Amino acid sequence: MIVKAQSGDYMEEAKLLYSLPKLNYDYGALAPHISEALLILHHTKHHQAYVNGANAILEKMDKARKEGADLGMKATLKELSFHIGGHVLHSLFWDNLAPPSKGGGGKPVGKLAEAIDKEFGSFERFKKEFAQAANSAEGSGWAALTFCMKTKRPMIMQVEKHNVNTYPFHILLVLDVWEHAYYLDYKNERAKFVEAFWSIVNWEAANKRLEKLLK
Ligand code: MN
Repeated sequence: MIVKAQSGDYMEEAKLLYSLPKLNYDYGALAPHISEALLILHHTKHHQAYVNGANAILEKMDKARKEGADLGMKATLKELSFHIGGHVLHSLFWDNLAPPSKGGGGKPVGKLAEAIDKEFGSFERFKKEFAQAANSAEGSGWAALTFCMKTKRPMIMQVEKHNVNTYPFHILLVLDVWEHAYYLDYKNERAKFVEAFWSIVNWEAANKRLEKLLK
């Protein structure tokens, strides 16, 4: 007997691909911390390239499966991890930024503020450790604040590229420290960009991620 799937069942729909998310603010809204020109380049060129890269691999997988061809799993999955990592991290990054006039900057709020104080002793100590993680990431990478549900501890993670050295925890906050994220505005002075980041952190968004986890 054939059971007809209910409408809206995702198994019945065409396979989805990744897409570039819209930003919650105008391209010029984070200036002078991130200039309009840099944000346009970062979002529409760099982030878009990871979306395209991930989708190209998904399409390659679909094609190989249809034709019964060999995928070369090791190389394919390595590349897929890189592009999906880039897409997911950038999406989180845009969402955890806000213009200073719309809530960006200041201090952590809610449960996140409590968790940071409990783990690090103070917001200042957390900032120092997070900035050190961001400033010392080798080559291209990210600093991230994650949350471990087993220990209920917020933990800083230093990501190489988009996918190396990661813990499979929940990400609350990320900062992109690839050169493409700051070079146009700050040249080689990554530390100045990291300092500017504190003025545009959307603590409300980071706290919402934690509260959703703890529900
Ligand atoms: Mn980037």
